[in-house]
Amino acid sequence: MHDSLPEQSQTPFDEQRYRLFQQLVSSLTPEQKAWMAGYLTAQLTSTSHSAGAMTQAEEITILVGSQTGNSEALAEQTQALARERGLRAVIKDMGDYKAPQLKTEKFLLVIVSTYGEGEPPDNARELYEFLFSKRAPSLKNTQFAVLALGDSSYEFFCKTGADFDRRLEELGAARLHERVDCDVDYETAAEGWINAVLEDLSQRTQSAPSATAQPASPLSSAGTSPYSRKHPFPAVLLEDIVLNGRGSQKETHHYELSLEGSGLHYEPGDALGVYPCNAPEMVDELLKKLHFNGEEKIDNDGKDSTLSEALLRNYEITTPTRPMLQKYAALINNAELARLLDEAHKQALADYLYGREIIDVVTDFPGGELNPQDFIGCLRKLPPRLYSIASSLKQHPDEVHLTVAAVRYQSHGRRRHGVCSTFLADRLGPDSTIPVYVDHNKNFKLPTDPDTPIIMIGPGTGIAPFRAFVEEREAIGASGKNWLFFGDQHFMTDYLYQSEWLRYLKSGLLTRMNVAFSRDQAEKVYVQQRMRENGRDLYAWLQEGAYLYVCGDEKHMARDVHETLLGLVEREGGMSREAAEQYVKTLQKEKRYQRDVY
Ligand code: NDP
Repeated sequence: MHDSLPEQSQTPFDEQRYRLFQQLVSSLTPEQKAWMAGYLTAQLTSTSHSAGAMTQAEEITILVGSQTGNSEALAEQTQALARERGLRAVIKDMGDYKAPQLKTEKFLLVIVSTYGEGEPPDNARELYEFLFSKRAPSLKNTQFAVLALGDSSYEFFCKTGADFDRRLEELGAARLHERVDCDVDYETAAEGWINAVLEDLSQRTQSAPSATAQPASPLSSAGTSPYSRKHPFPAVLLEDIVLNGRGSQKETHHYELSLEGSGLHYEPGDALGVYPCNAPEMVDELLKKLHFNGEEKIDNDGKDSTLSEALLRNYEITTPTRPMLQKYAALINNAELARLLDEAHKQALADYLYGREIIDVVTDFPGGELNPQDFIGCLRKLPPRLYSIASSLKQHPDEVHLTVAAVRYQSHGRRRHGVCSTFLADRLGPDSTIPVYVDHNKNFKLPTDPDTPIIMIGPGTGIAPFRAFVEEREAIGASGKNWLFFGDQHFMTDYLYQSEWLRYLKSGLLTRMNVAFSRDQAEKVYVQQRMRENGRDLYAWLQEGAYLYVCGDEKHMARDVHETLLGLVEREGGMSREAAEQYVKTLQKEKRYQRDVY
């Protein structure tokens, strides 16, 4: 490093200052040098800044609101690419962010998902409410851009991102770049947004980035593993056990997969991303309906492929979405489909789509002679499915376990099959591998203090992460109390992992367990009833500092459990409704109430 420094005579420094300069420069990391360069430039140019210009000393804030790890991963990608351009970006979780700080942000990138019926993710809720409240500050010194994540098969696609985008502008912030709404196959659209936004920001940077550009750090937070969402690991299936007994109406599988040689690591609370293939029978049926033979050559994202191969592996061929229908309608010119897509007939479209798949659409609205490439152009990419991990790596080195219910049902006179759950249940041979990656979820994590008590509510497949939690607590010898609520249809056939829970109860690792078998009696019994019956103790645990976790169905169970929790706090804490709401909000803010719902 000394070699590259100029001689003292070539600098404006006296000997003493030169020595200090030499010592300092040779001890700095590249990142520190980049910061210092920017800082000094800022000092020199601070009086001549035009509005919106940026120095390398200035930070870009990337605010992340996410229920799963996708937004977080994109934020890391943005940060790494910013660093390559010599820009400094910090990632902040919306859940930890002090809302009043917003007005001090100069360059703000918001990456936020939408979940359920157009709602913000749990960790974004408070900031969202603040922004739409009277307390929201003027943001006229802020420049911003929003990347919205969502799923176009839901009506309120990317609503939270759109709300942030609109509200930031209303508050006076200037838009750096148009919002981009990403569907479940978000990579290309998200990369486009990231590059465009960073290009814009680079142009605002006053000093040249090349001297300080940094190599990007690995985009995946999975440590040293070369495997990621983009490059999934081919995992070997070690075990497939159906957890339900004979006569059950459920088919819940326990899968054990090998991660040996992958370098992949996960923590309890993380999810496993699984890339499925579509069912070959569904591909065949679709080809037939569309009068294709499957051998047609198509351009599959820059690669040559046959139509049937692309439909099998790369495209979503079951769930119809509005954008898909719009593209298909443009090809086939069908008046009835065009009418359904009219904004005025939103409800009629929703009614039509309920329980229907793409095969129904092409049956009901046949296309005549279609070009195979055009048809492919209507479809979205087949996204990976996320499953909450059901094992602790400490107890099962090089393995990952999942609890997956095979989704099979009948609608509109057809048998339907969940794409990924039946790919796992029905279509794996003895030598097949499953493309997987770890999706880190820092919003569903055990307390760092092993003495902290935890309450886990996980009916059905919602039990998965709690198996991982309890295994982990056993492995690390955590002394905190553990209370589990579980529910399913029948005691005799659907008590998932029963022998493990009984063993933990016996050993004392599981302090309490309450079960609700909904269909063993005339009246339905759900976990909420057990929560209410044990309300006093549950509230006492919360008062002691317990963390509360909920995993499973979002639409009904998680909402009802939330409502039950509010009622319980109201009753046991002798609080008003507003005070109980505040209590639960505080729990959420302190990360003592975390949810993994789907
Ligand atoms: P279930 O839907 O079978 O529910 C488990 C238990 O919860 C049952 O006893 C059920 O009772 C009860 N329940 C129903 N409504 C409520 C409510 N409002 N509050 C509390 N409890 C309630 O759970 P599974 O997870 O086993 O269900 C599998 C389904 O989950 C699949 O069909 C699929 O759609 C979905 N799913 C599963 C995934 C996975 O396997 N990891 C991933 C994504 C989705 P009852 O049914 O008797 O009313």
